[in-house]
Amino acid sequence: MHMFCFQCQETGENRGCRFFGACGKQEETANYQDLLIYTLKGLAVCHERLRTAGGPPPDRETALFVAYALFSTITNVSFDPERVRALVHQGLHLKEKLLAGHPGLLDGEDSPAAGWLPADADELRQKAYQVGILFGDPDEDIRSLRETITYGLKGLAAYHYHALILEQDDPELTRFTLRALAAITRDLSLADLLGLALETGSATIRSMALLDRANSAAYGHPEITRVPLGVRDAPGILITGHDLKDMEELLEQTAGTGVDVYTHSEMLPAHYYPAFKKHPHLAGNYGNAWWNQEHDFAAFRGPILVTSNCIVPVAEAYRDRIFTTGPAAYPGLPHIWPDPKTGRKDFSALIRLARGCPPPDPQDGGEFVGGFGRNQLEQLAGRIAELVRAGEIRRFLVMGGCDGRDPARDYYRELAARLPEGTVILTAGCAKFRYVKEDLGTAGGLPRVLDAGQCNDCYSLVRIALALKDALGVADVNDLPVDFDLAWYDQKAVGVVLALLSLGVRRIRLGPTLPAFLSPNVRRILVEKFDLRPITTPEDDLAAMVAGR
Ligand code: SF4
Repeated sequence: MHMFCFQCQETGENRGCRFFGACGKQEETANYQDLLIYTLKGLAVCHERLRTAGGPPPDRETALFVAYALFSTITNVSFDPERVRALVHQGLHLKEKLLAGHPGLLDGEDSPAAGWLPADADELRQKAYQVGILFGDPDEDIRSLRETITYGLKGLAAYHYHALILEQDDPELTRFTLRALAAITRDLSLADLLGLALETGSATIRSMALLDRANSAAYGHPEITRVPLGVRDAPGILITGHDLKDMEELLEQTAGTGVDVYTHSEMLPAHYYPAFKKHPHLAGNYGNAWWNQEHDFAAFRGPILVTSNCIVPVAEAYRDRIFTTGPAAYPGLPHIWPDPKTGRKDFSALIRLARGCPPPDPQDGGEFVGGFGRNQLEQLAGRIAELVRAGEIRRFLVMGGCDGRDPARDYYRELAARLPEGTVILTAGCAKFRYVKEDLGTAGGLPRVLDAGQCNDCYSLVRIALALKDALGVADVNDLPVDFDLAWYDQKAVGVVLALLSLGVRRIRLGPTLPAFLSPNVRRILVEKFDLRPITTPEDDLAAMVAGR
């Protein structure tokens, strides 16, 4: 075995990827990602020592590095071992600086990660193959919870990073991340680790709330919007991923150039923001969820900008017109870096390329109505409560999360197609692509699919549940006519599930498979404590949810 990774839903045989990733990640990248996590743990122990000694809190450079580095290890973000290795060096440099400024900081410290500084490149490479998951605690339950916390922190970091890019911070997020990373290097009991996992969920809510504030401060509150799904007859640039700052700069730089901008996958909700809607050359959404990109990118015929996850192994059909930026990285592709002085990115290479490309090949037509973010949903909470009292809406199914390649995910399309009258889907994330193009009609005058936005906008779904609780005078969130039937794929979804568990939400259905990183015993604990369930069949689950079971 040359690597071991079981952090996503696609992991080999739902046990682990051992020789190469089902996602396309190669052994070298996987092992350097392990080393990056090890480096972060070492840095975290140093910061914890400093904190307990009354030292200063982590600075912005550290906050940005920690968020960016963790984000870089999320599935389908970085396939480039050189970029991951550079981040390891950056982390070691930050640690060296910290230790140089605080002599004796590690006196009495026995964490191997804290004291580790490689003598040369050979030692660094060897280390990368010696610090993976299977080199950790031999107790599979301890290992399971440590990894659960690590993956939740990766999700938190992704949301935090996007907020930091918009110049918004909550220093508690970096403090918590470092505390948690340091804590999982220690001998903690199962109960302590479970408590820390729930704390990670609470911190994830905080991170999503920060990003929600950052996005709405920069771009306005998402509004109910009709998003065109067809194409125009001008050349276009396709932007995918989650980074709204990149969206802003791309729209500004393409204005008046004759080049349209189309969103792909998780960038679809950009259409909901007033600051982006005002651009007439924001033409629509093109294609499907991230995993269809080989087809979508080939058919698009123009340049593609990947701003974060998800990128998949690049096909020849579009290799000469795809660019990465932010944490997204792929060997051999041009990467757009921000200007070191202004922080702005120059997308002129994409615009030049687009001008010589044909318009996108038409794929779909029609439109999708979305934009039911926190602000809109809270404004509608009173009306929704009335519809519930009048029996026009009987049940809400929260079907947020991720889409993916697993054919078992057709469960979500089938379930949406079978919705009985009076049921409404609340969604966020790319899971909606399973039914986004179906006409599911309305309930009480509202669309039966209320899309809040990207995966980070699952925060909006939490807020609407809390608003409904108040509007309906219900004491416990579990007594609402709301069921959670979530689709997971990557570690951002792990953060969201921990967030819901931290709020005490019970009876979450999770699919298409339960995470491989949950050991049988940890699964049993989650089932007993939270009634966490695997999905079964659309018919059985729908019947149970409609009956409130
Ligand atoms: Fe396998 Fe998922 Fe890890 Fe990729 S991210 S190597 S598919 S477990």
